[in-house]
Parts: sequence; structure tokens; C-alpha cells
Amino acid sequence: MATQVFKIADSFKKDVKYTFCPGCDHGVAVRLVAEVIDELGIRENAIVAAAIGCSVTIYDFLNIDALESPHGRAMAVATGIKRAKPDKFVFTYQGDGDFASIGWAESMHAALRGEKISSICINNTTFGMTGGQLGPTTMMGQVTTTSPTGRNEAYYGYPIKMAEHMALCDGVAFSARVSLDSVANIRKAKQAIKKAFEVQLQGLGLGFVEILAGCPINWRMTPEQAHDRVKNEMMQTFKPGIYKDITAQQ
Ligand code: SF4
Repeated sequence: MATQVFKIADSFKKDVKYTFCPGCDHGVAVRLVAEVIDELGIRENAIVAAAIGCSVTIYDFLNIDALESPHGRAMAVATGIKRAKPDKFVFTYQGDGDFASIGWAESMHAALRGEKISSICINNTTFGMTGGQLGPTTMMGQVTTTSPTGRNEAYYGYPIKMAEHMALCDGVAFSARVSLDSVANIRKAKQAIKKAFEVQLQGLGLGFVEILAGCPINWRMTPEQAHDRVKNEMMQTFKPGIYKDITAQQ
């Protein structure tokens, strides 16, 4: 049987301290982003607008230019970079709290303006860095440090469906939800990231990918249990799929 040789992406820094928690899916997501950047040959031209939260350390791992954004403002920062430097490839890497709570206005209006940027958003149903509080994506019934009896609609309302909302915005060229619960789905996630990057390179509009991911530390689970929760609970609430792809309609 032929031996498959895995190449570490050039955009992925190799000798840096791993700063995510053990078993966190952020490591997988960042690696996928690095691989796509290399495959598209855009490393020298890429700029990431980093966010606040666990996602912030992306600039520790990617060998590209980066700018730090105030909390929730990564889409606005990316907009400014892209408008000042339209030849650059610009993307955000955010968590659901940053993108869909404090940053929801920035996210929606960048989408409605059709900014030629891309956005990768990790959905792990909680505010991770600050200790596992209820976030905009916390599922119904889910226990968090600020919803000790579980999320209920009367008090907390309902979780936001980011990929569906983004797809409704006319300025969005591509919107998808993917999952990191299995190898097969990790492969699909990479395809979606690539597509979200390509629509920017083609000048078609904003590309968005919501990635369902585990937060084993705040969920008080092993990485395996976290992936089971992603598969058995998250993927029921947040259905994976491509919600918009204007290239498929052309
Ligand atoms: S708190 Fe959760 S999302 Fe943040 S690094 Fe740890 S496991 Fe990952």
C-alpha cells in the first residue's frame, strides 16, 4: 500500500507554542485555513483581521500579515483594509460570540454592503475564552455558566443561525455551515473555506463559512465526547450545508 505523505502548509507556523486547549477544534480550523491559503497561492497577499476570544491567536499560527480588531469589529476592520488595499486578500477569523453577539451589526452590514472579503466563524455554542457563558449560538436546553438550568426561550430567546442569516444578504456570494466532527466533514470544511476564499478572489462578494466545533474545556468533556456532541446535538440544531453559492447559479 502506498504511503501518503502529509505536507505541513507553508502558511502554518511550525515551531510555535500551541495556545489552544488540548483537543480544541480551533487547531484543526486554523490548519485548514493555512492549507487553503497555500493551495490558492495567496500567502504573500493575505491579511487576516483577527478577533477577540479564543480565535485571536490565529496570528500566532499563520505566517501571513495580521491586524488585531477590537471586540466584534473584525468585519469592519477587514472592510477598511480591503477598501484601502483592494488588491489584498482579506479575511476574518472569529468566534460566534465575537461575530454574532457584539459584532452582529458589523457582520450584517458588511454582508449587506457586499464587501469583497471572506469570513470564517467558529461556532462552539459558548463564550470560550471568558469561561463558557451563554452565547448567541447556545442551544436550547444547553447548560452554561450563565444558564445553569439550561437555555429556555422565555428567558434567553433562541440561538442564532448564522449561515442562514448571511445567505439572506444580497451582498453575500457564498454561505455555508460545516462541521469538524469527523474526517469526512473536515474535508468538506476545507472545500467550503476554499470556496469562500475563491468568491473574494473572483470579486463576486462576501464569502462566509460557519464551522461547528467542540469546546471540550468549557463543555467539561473529552475531545471525543465533544465531537459526539457536535454530531448528535449541534448538527441537529445547526444543519450543515451550503446555504448560498452564486457561482452554482451562474
Ligand atoms: S476555551 Fe474552548 S474554544 Fe477556547 S481554546 Fe479552549 S477548548 Fe478551544
